[in-house]
Amino acid sequence: MRDAMSNMKIIRGGRLMDIAAHGSTNVDLLIDGDTVREIGQPGMVAPDDALTIDATGKLLHPGLVNAHTHGHGALAKGMGDRWTLELLLASGPWTYGKRIHEDKYLATKIAAVEMVLKGCTACYDLTLEIPMPTVAGLESIGRAYQDIGMRAVVAPMVADATLYEAIPGLMEALTPGMRKDVEKLRLAPYETSLANMKSALHGWSFDRERIRMAVAPTIPLHCSDAFMIGCAKLAREYGVGLHSHVAESKVQAISGIKRYGKSLTAHLDEIGLLGPDFTVAHGVWLDDDDCRRLGDHGSSVAHNPASNMLLGSGIANARAMLDHKVNLGIGTDGANCSDNQNMYEAMHIASMVSNVRSPDSERWLSTREVVEAATIGSARALGFEKIGRIAPGYKADIVFLDLAAINWIPFNDSTNQLVHTEDGTSVHSVMIGGRMIVENRHLLSVDMARFAAEVETARARLAEANQPGKELFERLETVVGTFCPALARVPHHIHRYASSDWM
Ligand SMILES: [Zn+2]
Repeated sequence: MRDAMSNMKIIRGGRLMDIAAHGSTNVDLLIDGDTVREIGQPGMVAPDDALTIDATGKLLHPGLVNAHTHGHGALAKGMGDRWTLELLLASGPWTYGKRIHEDKYLATKIAAVEMVLKGCTACYDLTLEIPMPTVAGLESIGRAYQDIGMRAVVAPMVADATLYEAIPGLMEALTPGMRKDVEKLRLAPYETSLANMKSALHGWSFDRERIRMAVAPTIPLHCSDAFMIGCAKLAREYGVGLHSHVAESKVQAISGIKRYGKSLTAHLDEIGLLGPDFTVAHGVWLDDDDCRRLGDHGSSVAHNPASNMLLGSGIANARAMLDHKVNLGIGTDGANCSDNQNMYEAMHIASMVSNVRSPDSERWLSTREVVEAATIGSARALGFEKIGRIAPGYKADIVFLDLAAINWIPFNDSTNQLVHTEDGTSVHSVMIGGRMIVENRHLLSVDMARFAAEVETARARLAEANQPGKELFERLETVVGTFCPALARVPHHIHRYASSDWM
């Protein structure tokens, strides 16, 4: 499987997964540049100069598309335990503090390396720079994906209010000393963040077919309305996506009612954010009316079941989303809040949590629905039209699974086994845009030993520089860790909407 100068490739001997049929067919695929040109019978005629790729004993599936992650979280992998979402947010000055652009590049690269090695070929990365996004920072993040050869949407997360300003009553619950400390965390005025994103959008130097930008007002409660409206205007001016964490935790859902007098989604609808370009991350605490609004606008939800369980946020009602014609994608969330970037695991968990929601098995997500969410559903959320399936005219983003791996012995049902058995250990090779990125289990673009050493140098420097941030977190944890759970303990109307379910 060597890459060569020819623009044509013929993949011979593989079995192409048929997701709907739960099976596979023996085919040859002709790749022209970055695109699948033709799928034909084994032995089909190919141009003389086409390079042959031997896929004997391999099951080919479309590259998985991660609808929601945080590349910056990868340097903070495994740093927390027993953290709610609000504790995770409070840990920011420790876990993401003091980063230079090279750290942003490295963090993103760690995430990208893990994703491609585990069969993911494109992601929606909600990245973070504090106190605001910068052109140079966003370029270093885009460069990390470019160097790995992965497709990505890079969406700077922006806010003009801190956690302490966003959650009603939290600032008042802090001691005067803590209040002084968190005042130093103040974010840039929103006009500056908007101006920097506009500059980055304007001068974006990456091939937009591979790496593009989007705009992510991070959490509605953390953004003034003027800021969110400004984000929507900017995204629509440049034709890029909008992405926000909506009703991820019960604390957010309750704070939204307190702040806006209506649900977060109803508020976003009213100020004009919802549309086919809009993605809700998580949506654990959406009710039927919220799902209807999102479905009516053709919006997407990035379902991140692993993160929702790790942070104790709850279990999103993916079935209700599909009932209302919401476009469903699946994500891992960042390595700081689900601690790996494994889309096979995300699919597996999405399937399992759907089952425990309802006694009625017809309401469970089918494995076909799960795979479709993790491929074409996520692709639609990212805004890439020609990824998420292996078909003529689509980009050649293809995962080669080794059918000699134990996960496929025996091979009974490709769709069920992809969701319920595969864990990434069968990934043999990964092609993105017609180019081999992973070959025979090796990532071609990275010397892993050197990379690990570089990462360790950065990790050690940041651990030392962020010691004061760690101490601040340990002080704040005592208040955030009690105030927010108390806020969430009150009943919430959403329970009424799930009457047919267990929860
Ligand atoms: Zn997130």
